[in-house]
Amino acid sequence: MLTLKKGRITMYDPKSLKAEEFISHEEILETLDYAKKNKDNVELIDQIIAKARLAKGLTHREASVLLACDIPEKIQEIYDLAEQIKKDFYGSRIVMFAPLYLSNYCVNGCTYCPYHLKNKHIARKKLSLEEVEKEVIALQDMGHKRLAIEAGEDPVNNPIEYILDCVKTIYSIKHKNGAIRRVNINIAATTVENYRKLKEAEIGTYILFQETYHKESYEKLHPTGPKHDYSYHTEAMDRAMEGGIDDVGLGVLFGLELYQYEFAGLLMHAEHLEAVHGVGPHTISVPRIKKADDIDPDAFDNGIDDEIFAKLCALIRISVPYTGMIVSTRESQKVREQVIRLGVSQISGGSRTSVGGYQEDIRPTDTEQFDVSDQRSLDEVVHWLMDMGYIPSFCTACYREGRTGDRFMSLCKSGQIQNCCQPNALMTLKEYLMDYASEDTRKVGEALIAAELNHIPKEKVRLICEDHLQKIENGIRDFRF
Ligand code: SF4
Ligand code: SF4
Repeated sequence: MLTLKKGRITMYDPKSLKAEEFISHEEILETLDYAKKNKDNVELIDQIIAKARLAKGLTHREASVLLACDIPEKIQEIYDLAEQIKKDFYGSRIVMFAPLYLSNYCVNGCTYCPYHLKNKHIARKKLSLEEVEKEVIALQDMGHKRLAIEAGEDPVNNPIEYILDCVKTIYSIKHKNGAIRRVNINIAATTVENYRKLKEAEIGTYILFQETYHKESYEKLHPTGPKHDYSYHTEAMDRAMEGGIDDVGLGVLFGLELYQYEFAGLLMHAEHLEAVHGVGPHTISVPRIKKADDIDPDAFDNGIDDEIFAKLCALIRISVPYTGMIVSTRESQKVREQVIRLGVSQISGGSRTSVGGYQEDIRPTDTEQFDVSDQRSLDEVVHWLMDMGYIPSFCTACYREGRTGDRFMSLCKSGQIQNCCQPNALMTLKEYLMDYASEDTRKVGEALIAAELNHIPKEKVRLICEDHLQKIENGIRDFRF
């Protein structure tokens, strides 16, 4: 597709490695126009929903039509379908993780984040390796096995060597029965060489939020610092994959720009990764802008309400069925409850979004990146999930078994991954119950495991799982399929 831009001809090309070509502004505008024109076109909407039912995904244009549609019965159909696809692909499992903030030193000027360089009244902190160890022990003692580490961009305070040392430290700590088995990384866009180093350090997913796909807004929202460079930021996932990282996680910060624009951009980014690397994003995160030190979310006039947020989650679920969806404790219990049903597959629990926050008895707020809406403990979150019929899973098996990138996706697409997810969820939940749960949570969990064992389709797998559960009861840990 050819589009004119300021006298130049820009080619929309999902296979291009240039940000402005695979996230073509003109293509997004045309998509939004097409969606608006067809928002009441029931015949087309039905065709798109029928295609989505095949669970092979939707294009950004198709999904945008559904986003624009406001016919209540059609929206209900979309919600029902999202719920069905969620059940078919993810069963009732919800993967648990926690963020770990390493440092809030940052040289960027992001106008929506309290860590921006010009914020002189926020306390700046960077964990020493000894402090990392203490944080990790605190997280292990809660029961976490999977972390997402976060750090601001600062070549002096947070160079790649520091991040690598932290990853190494995190993996090395074994406190009681605790272990962090997967470390995902959320750090600034970097070079292929640095991505290669992260790969060698055996990270799980590399996560980088685009924040906004709208280039002009992006440049205004990131007025200073290396992050100002839209192309470098947007092309980061291609460099990460070139550096050998198979699993990448996308996300936008809803509230910065028009959500319709971001949604189309997000799906175009996923299509681009699939077109170039043969594998789409491993995860998509859906943060919404929140209150924080020096940040008033009302200053951003593109905020979305809970209803639109739920619709976006449902549409992401049916547009990219194989991609995990993550929601953090930015969202309240009530909102999390709704979006888990509609498609979210991974949530954080017991999170602290400040540097060094896990070692403190009382939640510190002086270095927080955002207000945490869901302030419950991990045990409370686990209990709550089980009360709703979900299986909290602490599974980290895939990347440890080399099931990453296209290998992972082909297992996902064939449905074979289910043979691993369900028993792994039960075994890791059992570990949690044995080592960390309150008495009440343990009781509920044991009953859930007994019932859910019957949902393992292959008898052979079920028998092995039963055997492993018994061994876990006897004190042995870390079984996986
Ligand atoms: Fe720094 Fe990230 Fe915050 Fe921007 S969003 S100021 S890069 S920590
Ligand atoms: Fe995730 Fe793989 Fe574990 Fe399933 S088996 S929950 S896909 S890590």
